[in-house]
Amino acid sequence: MTGQLGVRVTEDMLEHGYKELTLPAGRDGSHRIERNALHIWPRGGFMLIALPNIDGSFTVTLFLALKGGVESFAALDSRAAVDAFFASHFPDVVPRMPGLAREFLERPVGRMGTVRADAWSAGEAAVLLGDAAHAIVPFHGQGMNACFEDCFELDRLLRSASDWRSAFEQFFQLRKPDTDAIAAMALENFLEMRDTVRDPKFMLRKELSFELERRHPERFIPRYSMVMFHHEIPYRVAFERGRTQTDVLTRLTTTADAVADIPIAQMDTLVTRLLEPLPVSAAREP
Ligand SMILES: Cc1cc2nc3c(=O)[nH]c(=O)nc-3n(C[C@H](O)[C@H](O)[C@H](O)COP(=O)(O)OP(=O)(O)OC[C@H]3O[C@@H](n4cnc5c(N)ncnc54)[C@H](O)[C@@H]3O)c2cc1C
Repeated sequence: MTGQLGVRVTEDMLEHGYKELTLPAGRDGSHRIERNALHIWPRGGFMLIALPNIDGSFTVTLFLALKGGVESFAALDSRAAVDAFFASHFPDVVPRMPGLAREFLERPVGRMGTVRADAWSAGEAAVLLGDAAHAIVPFHGQGMNACFEDCFELDRLLRSASDWRSAFEQFFQLRKPDTDAIAAMALENFLEMRDTVRDPKFMLRKELSFELERRHPERFIPRYSMVMFHHEIPYRVAFERGRTQTDVLTRLTTTADAVADIPIAQMDTLVTRLLEPLPVSAAREP
């Protein structure tokens, strides 16, 4: 879509939607499942997740195709259909969610998508930030964080630039590679959470990534950790290094079934050859 300013904007909507439900706190206000965790029930084409709240409840989100067959929101239009779906696919959560079918039928289905624009400002008159400029799918939990980073960087540029127009232009040049990177990583995480966490090779690569981090903390930081816990590492750097790290993990696990099968010398050689130590502060300047 091209708007009045000649700016090209695309909105790529997922064919999956989401619905938020509640797993209430126990009688004493405690969490009824492990609270220091992101719970995922991957089921291939769909998944359920649960995130802890400070009041002891969990926000439970079902990600499911909007339409097409029995495993879709369109098919879950009655109490009987909802009960049967959860009993069949998520039997362990059913006893913990007493209001499940009622809540499910009352709550709306949310849509998710990625917004990309090839400019975010109109001269010095206006600039977009946050989701208006770069909405992403929510599978990395970074949409709001990316908005805060926008605010931080725009504030910094408004103080240093000669005028607003150039601040807005620098803002776009600086942030666009990072917001494109987190958009791509959020989409990749959707597939990872939904499908690959059930694959034994995936579990092996995860275990190996923690071992490589332990051995080479300055060179190998799992991509998820770079994005979630190292905010000094820009998204674009996490994305690029993540690709190299995946290559390392794939090479080391091709013929191995356990981390113990992989020669330590081979691990060390590959990591030191392919991954430079991370700079103390990865470049943030435009
Ligand atoms: C299911 C889900 C889970 C998420 N989880 C996370 C997470 O764990 N961590 C994270 O960092 N991010 C998460 N996000 C993303 C996060 O919610 C968004 O990135 C963030 O809310 C965007 O903030 P914003 O201010 O840019 O836009 P919004 O929050 O959308 O705010 C825009 C506001 O503008 C108002 N508005 C719109 N049009 C007009 C108008 N014409 N006039 C006046 N007002 C108007 C809207 O009503 C709204 O209040 C999640 C998103 C979803 C959908």
